[in-house]
Amino acid sequence: MVEELKRIALVTGANKGIGFEVTRSLGKAGLIVLVGARNRELGEAATATLTAEGIDARYVEVDVVRQATIEAAASLIIAEFGRLDILINNAGINDTGDGPPSAADLGAVRRVIETNFLGAVAVTQAMLPLLRKSAAGRVVNVSSGLGSLKWNADPNWEFAAVKLLGYCSSKAALNMLTIQLAYELRGTTIKVNASNPGYTATDLNGRQGYQTVAQGAAETVRLALLPDDGPTGGFFETSGPDPW
Ligand code: NAP
Repeated sequence: MVEELKRIALVTGANKGIGFEVTRSLGKAGLIVLVGARNRELGEAATATLTAEGIDARYVEVDVVRQATIEAAASLIIAEFGRLDILINNAGINDTGDGPPSAADLGAVRRVIETNFLGAVAVTQAMLPLLRKSAAGRVVNVSSGLGSLKWNADPNWEFAAVKLLGYCSSKAALNMLTIQLAYELRGTTIKVNASNPGYTATDLNGRQGYQTVAQGAAETVRLALLPDDGPTGGFFETSGPDPW
């Protein structure tokens, strides 16, 4: 009964970093949070931490590059809840072999695109039938300013020197997924947006980012909880829309 009233959110890569903080915020807002993680031990530990904070959290195995885990997660969620209200495509990697176009290792570029873009596509396709059963589905793709073509083309941009071909391309492609899926779902109650967390201190960047994880999670949380008159097909950071 409670499940019918509470919204249900799945976050990929929820065991740490921005994903964990997004999950925590959604849990604190009263949602049932499904802690998607590829590593059971880490996922269960994160779930236990959230549960200890009074959050209704459940661990769900999701490795975004292992289709079987994605399909099993979709089956589990449909069996238990009959729908999904919010999907946060947060799981992401960088790779030390990534680099500028002249030097990036091709294997590294493939690995990054496989996780950051194709992983999000795979999870979204598997969860879409469940989101269609929600009264107000929300998809948030955790992108990056590094995925902005406009900013990449600006030699004076603050991060102009960060030319990681694999990572930047993966986020540009994730933005394309956002635009195209929002278009496909226009006229439905499902909203699809991309968030730019901003440079945040996590393991992804050796904790060099200058924002806290709470700051890095904020825009993703806002987009997850958008009201019915909120936008779809947009790319946002906390201060407003970002250029594609
Ligand atoms: P993080 O602390 O390294 O967290 C990344 C999360 O993704 C971890 O939970 C990791 O799981 C998970 N993950 C990686 N590969 C996965 C896979 N195949 N299947 C499932 N989960 C997987 O990094 P973060 O900074 O929080 O990154 C979260 C998202 O924010 C990423 O998409 C990143 O690109 C984006 N972002 C970050 C920043 C920043 O400054 N930090 C800025 C812009 C965008 P494991 O623990 O098992 O490795």
